[in-house]
Amino acid sequence: MIRRTSPETSMDLATQPYRASDSFGSLTFSGDVMLKRLPPDVYMNLQRTIKQGTPLDPAIANTVASAMKDWAIEHGATHYCHWFQPLTGTTAEKHDAFLSVAGDGSAIEKFSGSQLIQGEPDASSFPSGGIRDTYEARGYTAWDCTSPAFILRTGDHCTLCIPTAFVSWTGEALDKKTPLLRSIEAVAKQAMRILKVFGTDAGVTRVVTTLGVEQEYFLVDREMVRERLDLSICGRTLVGAAPPKGQQLEDHYFGSINERVLAFMSEVEARLFELGVPVKTRHNEVAPGQYEVAPTFESANVASDHQMVTMHVLRTVAPNHGFECLLHEKPFAGVNGSGKHNNWSIATDTGVNLLDPREETHTNMQFLVFLCAVIRAVDVHADLLRASIASAHNDHRLGANEAPPAIMSIYLGDMLTDILDQLESGETKRTKNGTPLDLGATTLPQIPRHTSDRNRTSPFAFTGNKFEFRAVGSSQPVAWPNTVLNTIIAESLDVLATALEKKVGKNPTTAKLESAVKSILQEIVKKHRRVCFDGNGYSKEWHEEAEKRGLPNLRSTADALPVIKSKKALDLFAKYGVFSSRELKARYEILVEQYVKVMRIEARTLVTMGRTQILPAAIRFQAELADAIAGAQAVGVECPDSDTALREHVRRVADLRTLIAKVEEAEAKHIEDAEKHMRQIRDDLFPAMQKTREVCDTLEKQLPDDLWPLPTYADMLLLR
Ligand code: ADP
Ligand code: MG
Repeated sequence: MIRRTSPETSMDLATQPYRASDSFGSLTFSGDVMLKRLPPDVYMNLQRTIKQGTPLDPAIANTVASAMKDWAIEHGATHYCHWFQPLTGTTAEKHDAFLSVAGDGSAIEKFSGSQLIQGEPDASSFPSGGIRDTYEARGYTAWDCTSPAFILRTGDHCTLCIPTAFVSWTGEALDKKTPLLRSIEAVAKQAMRILKVFGTDAGVTRVVTTLGVEQEYFLVDREMVRERLDLSICGRTLVGAAPPKGQQLEDHYFGSINERVLAFMSEVEARLFELGVPVKTRHNEVAPGQYEVAPTFESANVASDHQMVTMHVLRTVAPNHGFECLLHEKPFAGVNGSGKHNNWSIATDTGVNLLDPREETHTNMQFLVFLCAVIRAVDVHADLLRASIASAHNDHRLGANEAPPAIMSIYLGDMLTDILDQLESGETKRTKNGTPLDLGATTLPQIPRHTSDRNRTSPFAFTGNKFEFRAVGSSQPVAWPNTVLNTIIAESLDVLATALEKKVGKNPTTAKLESAVKSILQEIVKKHRRVCFDGNGYSKEWHEEAEKRGLPNLRSTADALPVIKSKKALDLFAKYGVFSSRELKARYEILVEQYVKVMRIEARTLVTMGRTQILPAAIRFQAELADAIAGAQAVGVECPDSDTALREHVRRVADLRTLIAKVEEAEAKHIEDAEKHMRQIRDDLFPAMQKTREVCDTLEKQLPDDLWPLPTYADMLLLR
């Protein structure tokens, strides 16, 4: 039976004993369910593909499909769908009923192996970036058995969702999963070469990338969102004056969680547990109305799918509690925006984290090789990494003294910085240890201190045994930035493996290996440590210093996106089999198109709100003021102050009218060349929108409350 968690039953959760462990994964076709329902040979065969990456054996498909269908129907599913991630930034599903009508007119429930393995959705309405013409409609979905199928409940309707890759008729990727899977294989292949050099590959069949993604979001009362066209259409406020109290007191971060919010979080968690998403932490974030949820890390492909599921669940559960969940990177100006910290590492299938420095790090040559591979990758491809998180939404957040700057740099911390110094000098002799902290009260325990502090201004920070890519945007699917990350690291591992293999030769000895590592890493550190920076990433000094070091500072999406179609990027992705040039160029086109579309929709929304809501309110106020002045003068009272106020107000209203017309004009401009169009939006449209906003925000502060047509920041951010 399915555990229902509609609003009524979120109450059940509180009154009945609820054990998350009982329901964990209960709506996924994996683990025990698979073991129980599949014949042993089929189970083993499928597990080999899932765990070891062996090719999928089509002969088992019918048996798996039939077991999956029976299980799904028992759990209330009437339909199945191939669930995929097209390039729209969301997920897509086309439902088919299990029910079929046989030749004799009787109804049967059918789901064959071929229906499991392959789907053929009409692809013509998905973005392809020119890979196909609209009349070439055929696209294929292909079952990704490494990510568990799951049952998605929407109200009382249950659908079996089968994670799939989505490609065009020509076999070119039209989704985010396919290149992610290719990039994971690229890292795995190159990492294995490093393990072979060190002789640590015994028993290892695969190297996997691991991923744990922290998701920040805002909750706002649903009725207020409905009253605001900007939030409803664009997911962010296009106007809105700062509230008297924002996040100045920093009393929201980690504060005790409001009861209504906690009920929402609990329902989200219960649903995610059922779907096998291992959510772990929840807390209030920095801005009022802002929260975070984070899972335990998983293999990158599954984590990426689970991240999409998490966003879906957050959005769909919110209305049950009277909320709207805003995943936009910057819903409110002047308060912190939302990101998605992308915790990333590489591990062997035997459970060894290859980015774990362990104790005596200076002797852990293999770790140092992986570390230096990351440093090299981020330095050589800082521009591409920056491009991987570029979007109209993220432009509001990056570099805004709340999120990492647009300059990509790595935070290493004291211990690793010291080791880098040693590597640069050619000899590694010591590992700095964290000294215990004495808290000065005998009843409190002595606690060990980490070897380095945290640095929240860094876009790419080493955090103990993983890297945290913090510049990823909160609404962004993580597949694309991770595809880029994996590919640039694969290249660096390739370079290092090639150099090591050459130096060490056929019969490696420990001494030979150590001296090879030291001399190769010395070069790498000398050349690439300019990308490492432990100081304040927000400071002006860093921006100047970064420029001196020659690090790219691609401030906006319009600056960053063209990197994707550079020769360097095209060659890189082609070499590691992640994207053909055609596929990558298509991606570039789609990203540019999305930027242009998002900005133009925002502009049109602003024009509508300005003309139909804000201007009329301002004119009503103008009439009230004029009436009041005329009334006073009629009884012989002069009121020069009101007179001045009226004149100022009339000027402001005229300004607003002019500015709205400017936005309209800049929005309507048709520019054939996409890159030029992006720049026009950045240089003309966006500044015009900002100016319009400023006038609206001044009006908001001056208009009587009963005339202001929109819920204010204070209304929306201070939850009751
Ligand atoms: P913080 O906010 O302190 O960074 P969180 O607990 O919110 O910490 O998030 C840390 C994330 O990093 C979690 O999702 C965690 O599972 C993930 N993580 C931990 N170790 C690894 C690893 N080896 N590879 C990938 N992700 C990891
Ligand atoms: Mg974190």
